[in-house]
Amino acid sequence: MTTWPKQSGAEFFYGNPRRHGAAVVSQDWYRSHIIHIAPPFFMRMIKPVVKFPIHRACAAATLEWLNEVWKNAGYDQRVIDDWGMSVFSGSYCFRPMRGLQHLSMHAYGCAMDFDAPRNGLHDQTPHFATLRQEVVEPFLKLGGVWGGDWNGDGSSADERRADGMHFQFALLG
Ligand SMILES: [Zn+2]
Repeated sequence: MTTWPKQSGAEFFYGNPRRHGAAVVSQDWYRSHIIHIAPPFFMRMIKPVVKFPIHRACAAATLEWLNEVWKNAGYDQRVIDDWGMSVFSGSYCFRPMRGLQHLSMHAYGCAMDFDAPRNGLHDQTPHFATLRQEVVEPFLKLGGVWGGDWNGDGSSADERRADGMHFQFALLG
């Protein structure tokens, strides 16, 4: 299993996505680090998501996770739909937080959001909390962190910044 970097060390592991001195992504970084992968089940984000962008360093782990979820769903698209895993809410996105110093893990291409409508920011009762075994645990087994339980204590109720839609291959700190 890959040991994922801490958020503070994301740049060392995933590279620097910033274009020199500007609040936009470096196209060179994007071309050399981001690849597009096809999910094993149907997903949509307004339109069908045939492929989505992710950092090449965590692409295999992402596919392993989605394949495990697909297996847990009994390879049944209706179950995936019930779980909200077909409601894709974004992966790679260059969106500086508080200027250029802090980039969201989405800017490194190592984070994904699913089913934002039922797993909203600051919602301490995210829908995915009811799918720990089916969806969350397989992600944690790959060393990832789920935003619905940042501290990993098994509860979303104690999270001040719960982000239940959010799954990232970067550790806290
Ligand atoms: Zn997110």
